[in-house]
Amino acid sequence: MHASHDLILVLFSYVIAVASSYTVLDLAASAGQARGIRRWRWLAFGAVLMGMGIWSAHFIGMLALNLPVPVKYNLLKVLLSITAAVLGSFLALAVIARFRAGLRQLLGGGILLAAGIAGMHYIGMSAMQIGIVYRYGYVVLSIAIAYAAAYAALWLSFSAMTGNEKQSGWRKLGGGLILGAAIAGMHYTGMLAAQFEPDHMHGDLPGVVLEQKWLAYIIAGGMLFTLWLSLIGLNISRRFSRKDTKILVNEKWYRSLYENNQDGILSVDLELRIIGFNPAASRITGINQETLEDRSLDFFLNIVVEEERGRMHELFSRSFGGEYIGYETTIVHQEGHRVDISVINAPVTVDGQVVGTYVIARDVTEDKQVKERNHYLAFHDELTGLPNRRMFNQLLEQAIEAHSGKQEPFGVMVLDLDRFKMINDSLGHLYGDLFLQEMSNRIRNSVVNENVILARLGGDEFALLCRFTRKQMNVTDIAEAMIAAVAQPYHLKEREFYVTMSIGIAFYPYHGQDPVQLLKNADTAMYEVKKNGKNDYHFFSEELNGELLERLELEGDLRKALERNEFVLHYQPQVHEERKAIVGVEALIRWQHPQRGLLSPAVFIPLAEEMGLIVELGKWVLREACRQMHRWHEAGGPLVPVAVNLSSQQFHQYNLLEEIVGILKESGLAPEYLELEITESMMMNANISAEVLSGLVKTGIRISLDDFGTGYSSLSYLRLYPIHKVKIDRSFIRDIVTGGEDQAIVSAIITLARHLKMDVIAEGIETREQLDILLDGGCREFQGYYYSRPLPAHEMADMFLLAARTS
Ligand code: C2E
Ligand code: MG
Ligand code: MG
Repeated sequence: MHASHDLILVLFSYVIAVASSYTVLDLAASAGQARGIRRWRWLAFGAVLMGMGIWSAHFIGMLALNLPVPVKYNLLKVLLSITAAVLGSFLALAVIARFRAGLRQLLGGGILLAAGIAGMHYIGMSAMQIGIVYRYGYVVLSIAIAYAAAYAALWLSFSAMTGNEKQSGWRKLGGGLILGAAIAGMHYTGMLAAQFEPDHMHGDLPGVVLEQKWLAYIIAGGMLFTLWLSLIGLNISRRFSRKDTKILVNEKWYRSLYENNQDGILSVDLELRIIGFNPAASRITGINQETLEDRSLDFFLNIVVEEERGRMHELFSRSFGGEYIGYETTIVHQEGHRVDISVINAPVTVDGQVVGTYVIARDVTEDKQVKERNHYLAFHDELTGLPNRRMFNQLLEQAIEAHSGKQEPFGVMVLDLDRFKMINDSLGHLYGDLFLQEMSNRIRNSVVNENVILARLGGDEFALLCRFTRKQMNVTDIAEAMIAAVAQPYHLKEREFYVTMSIGIAFYPYHGQDPVQLLKNADTAMYEVKKNGKNDYHFFSEELNGELLERLELEGDLRKALERNEFVLHYQPQVHEERKAIVGVEALIRWQHPQRGLLSPAVFIPLAEEMGLIVELGKWVLREACRQMHRWHEAGGPLVPVAVNLSSQQFHQYNLLEEIVGILKESGLAPEYLELEITESMMMNANISAEVLSGLVKTGIRISLDDFGTGYSSLSYLRLYPIHKVKIDRSFIRDIVTGGEDQAIVSAIITLARHLKMDVIAEGIETREQLDILLDGGCREFQGYYYSRPLPAHEMADMFLLAARTS
């Protein structure tokens, strides 16, 4: 029997096969991502769609077949064939929907799908109430085609799920085309296998005759419409799920920000319940997450230090009103210590409504400590811990402000340690610092009073603010207490050191209206004390102002005096009383001031020391004295030494020895004719002193100890140093005629010196009486007005040296 195909319908059947395959592969991707019941739903939907597609393609193919006789269909078998297609599709989809399909699953899936397609076809064929004879070669071929194509389609669509979106689109289309080809190929090969035999028409069997063409178009149209709808639905659902995923990812990002944040974050809703609490919040408060969950905000507010709680409540009600608030507060950690936190209350608004607030807290304890430390350092002296100059000025300003309306007085003191510079020079800065610490402690402890503020202005200079009103007596009490505290001996390196303090006092408002003026005037008063022998206090007065000006002027002149050659040396003889012979001369400096006349070293030596000019000046004295003595020697003698006074700074000059040796060479004076006068107070550091002295002595220079007896130092240490001569200080000689202590001390000194094989000389002899007592005591050498005042060089030569030569 001849059968022909309607070509348009054949095309339709292929298009449907491809479209349904493509749709289903697209669907399988979604099914693969879904889980649980959703996954089964996707699979069922896909299986029905695919099964129906396969069946439609087949059935349209059948309807495209033009048989010369009308054919009846057995509807039950038709339904059965649909079921086979759906079942095969379902199983195949279940395989590909599993992401990790291995080769075995693919093979299995291919077999199932092919079985579904082939089953559908041959059951469908058997629904035709017409005699069919099969050519089994084609049947086998049709099944083989079904299998090969199903396998290829499955493999392609499986790989489509793993590629990127573009690749996956092409692969799905490829899968669709191949699967479509499988269905069509199978169908038409299957049709080749069939030989219709109209003679064996089962005309009497029950069944329906179908109006073929129209039916075919209706099925094709319906099917394509269904597929089109499915694709649209699929796309929409996918877009939604993409959005879901995006939201999910965003949420994860936010969670991470929340969980890993270094700042503690607390979320609080409008019912004042804590609904969120991140790990950093746990760390900062020491409260674990479970304890806080679902607690009321009050629980949290209770760990805020008590004095802050009221403010906290207020701040929170403001932030619930939508205000963004930043503040600092302090909480108590669960372990008991305080934690300073910097907090932001950030209201959470949803659709314009405040629904709660975030409390974002940062632990700033360390920052705050650093800040406080910096602030402390900016306003305190590091060495003593006392307020520094900056802070003192501020406090002084505040005091002035507080007193300004009332015109009530208060006192400002400037304190200066008298011999600190020497201690610092001779002991070194390390001990100098220790010494300063000790002194500042003593001063502080001697004036413990809330109305008194002690500050260190720098170096050995302190300042005191006394906020007493109209009680000047208190100020003098304080000054005396401080002086007494400092005067106590200071023990260091098994030695005792003695220092004193000079204090200047000025009063607001009489002596100044502002900090600068007050401090300057107190300073002036302090210098007055220094000038008058130190170790005392003095109030500022207007006359002092004049003296200050004079002092400043003198400082200016002193700077120029050396280059203007305004210094001269006077010489005072030292005499051996019994031999009636001159045994030496002391060189004593004078300043020939252009306006003020001849100035005593007592006026300008301390100034030169303070200004740092003394080393230069001392060098000049040494050179001049050596030259002069050499000239006298050249002129015929007598061959006696010249004594030159050294200052403490010179003594500690690192290149002293070198310099002196240079000067001796230059002047031509033999070393044994130079005698250096040093004082006990210069030799505070025994090691350094011994080193300097032995260096000098080795070159042949002589050493004499000036002002002996005033330096508080013990006599026993004398033997440690190479000293040739001891000069008994003038202060002992002055009162020696009245007998008593001084006489005893002087004779003790003479005995000791003899014992140690040192020469002794008494200075400041003014009367015969003094001389006689000293002669009785065993002293033989003398220096003083009794013999001669210090004289200019030519007078010295005339009066003594010439006489000595002729005698
Ligand atoms: P000094 O070394 O103890 O010198 C002795 C001082 O006593 C001298 O005072 C001298 O004029 C004075 N004098 C001597 N005999 C008598 C006396 O009988 N009665 C009284 N009342 N005084 C007497 P001057 O020259 O005013 O020197 C004072 C101090 O200045 C010296 O004390 C010394 O420490 C220092 N001086 C002097 N010249 C120099 C110098 O060139 N360099 C250094 N660094 N200091 C010097
Ligand atoms: Mg002297
Ligand atoms: Mg002296």
